[in-house]
Amino acid sequence: MAEKNTALLQRITVSGHLIVNHTFQHLNGWKSPAQIYFKDVLKCQQFIDAIVPESSIKLFRPSFGKLTKTQMGILKKEYKINLCEKISGDYQPNLSFPRALYLLYETQAGDTVLFHDSIKCYQNLEILLTKFLAFFSARGYTFEILNMD
Ligand SMILES: [Zn+2]
Repeated sequence: MAEKNTALLQRITVSGHLIVNHTFQHLNGWKSPAQIYFKDVLKCQQFIDAIVPESSIKLFRPSFGKLTKTQMGILKKEYKINLCEKISGDYQPNLSFPRALYLLYETQAGDTVLFHDSIKCYQNLEILLTKFLAFFSARGYTFEILNMD
């Protein structure tokens, strides 16, 4: 998707958001041979570097949150690894909004919350993210670029 929307990626970056490595083909680390997996991570990084050359943060968020210990060990040498603490559930076709919101409202300061930007998730995302931001904004929270330091 990023490859088809490079102008959007640049706009996202200029707006102050962070673009991070998530593998190029959205590979599941548990189901991918190491060589193919690392080649894909490298391809994604080269793509990001071409779009956002000034980005110095090397952050990796494994697709599906799945990474083997070996993959983790090797990637940790070059990347800070981000594993989500909260999954919004926006990808679920028959999502229970009260349950999803109940879980999201348990988010703690500093947690990473996973939402998706795909068309199939949009209806759920729009409701969940709007309520999530309103809930925490009303409680004085702010939302910042991920800082892994
Ligand atoms: Zn993903």
